[in-house]
Amino acid sequence: MEKQKVVVNGERLKQTIEEFADFGRTENNGVTRLALSNIDIQVRNHFKSSCEELGMTVKWDDMGSMYATLPGLDNSKPPVVIGSHLDSVKKGGRFDGALGVITGLEVVRTLVDNNIKPQVPIVVANITNEEGARFEPSMMASGVMSGRFDKGQMLKSTDTKGVTFEEALKASGYEGEKENRLQDASAFIELHIEQGPVLENESIDIGVVECVVGMCCYEIEVTGDSDHAGTTPMSMRKDALFAANNLINEIRDKMSKLDSDLVYTIGRVDVSPNIHTVIPNKVVFTIEARHKEADTIRQVEDIIQGLTESEGREKCAVTANKLWDRDTVWFNDQLVSTMENSCSSLDYTYKRMPSGAGHDAQFIATYIPAAMIFVPSVNGKSHSEDELTSWEDCEKGVNVVLQTVLELVAK
Ligand SMILES: [Zn+2]
Repeated sequence: MEKQKVVVNGERLKQTIEEFADFGRTENNGVTRLALSNIDIQVRNHFKSSCEELGMTVKWDDMGSMYATLPGLDNSKPPVVIGSHLDSVKKGGRFDGALGVITGLEVVRTLVDNNIKPQVPIVVANITNEEGARFEPSMMASGVMSGRFDKGQMLKSTDTKGVTFEEALKASGYEGEKENRLQDASAFIELHIEQGPVLENESIDIGVVECVVGMCCYEIEVTGDSDHAGTTPMSMRKDALFAANNLINEIRDKMSKLDSDLVYTIGRVDVSPNIHTVIPNKVVFTIEARHKEADTIRQVEDIIQGLTESEGREKCAVTANKLWDRDTVWFNDQLVSTMENSCSSLDYTYKRMPSGAGHDAQFIATYIPAAMIFVPSVNGKSHSEDELTSWEDCEKGVNVVLQTVLELVAK
């Protein structure tokens, strides 16, 4: 006889998601819960008491990230960690971040319900300030933990009212010890909404995230001459905007011939002097591109460099400055396979996919085996009050995490 599979309580999961969304719920059923705001402190207190009710011990570190530990049979072994973030953007959704923390809570509740004592401790983590909506940059605490960001610099980050992160952290009561940081774990699992349309479009239950894609971002500057829009013959102009228009068309044309998974965006265009009677003398625009293969990003960079070399730019000068880039972060292959097996054993459809957006897991992956699960976003919407994932899809995602944890703690 086949053993009955342990699954999570979907009704309780739904209630918990709504319960957490009550902290900062907006009139359009979204959530505003900026990092270390009063409402964030309240949801932290609620998370803490919810965990303590389950017999977990809750600690926090020097950046305010919280860790609730369910003891295992052997507490000398590194824990399995499930986590994400409880902060949100202004007028964000109920699922982004919170779902990954609640996943941990529901997994622990299910273990406790079924009297399953894990071999190793299980930690549910709430990582501080993933969004960077109040204090820039995003993924601040995981960036500090992984050594990517300088803590001293982060503490000085200021919100629009002039309050520093350090002041807000101290006032919150959640400034803890550095030694409590996430240092040693056998796995970090983050469930997150997809924030894109792929899973819904392809009617797939689960995305098993294999990487966070690399990217590069350039600023292109086109310089011509400002002259009178009425008195300068067309043949005598150096119109920076016509030149920029040609460059943008060239980018579109050349990049569309690269891999179909490549995404690229001209997100900002500044035209000077931006007066209707004056020929534009300067256009500055950004071009960013994302793809999981480093080779494709290199081809993109060749195309961008090529823009500065060729002739025929309406007699304008073109320069390209790299603003920044980021290599693809590949998640732990073994953990990704375990997640795929969990999907199969639950008869859920799934696909391996990259993440085009950044997440705490990508920084944590630099020193702890990490991977992510995506659940479908209705219409691909996020960072919006319209953000939605069906209760059924949430439940499936949490079941995949539960199965994966059971597999990991059985070892
Ligand atoms: Zn998020």
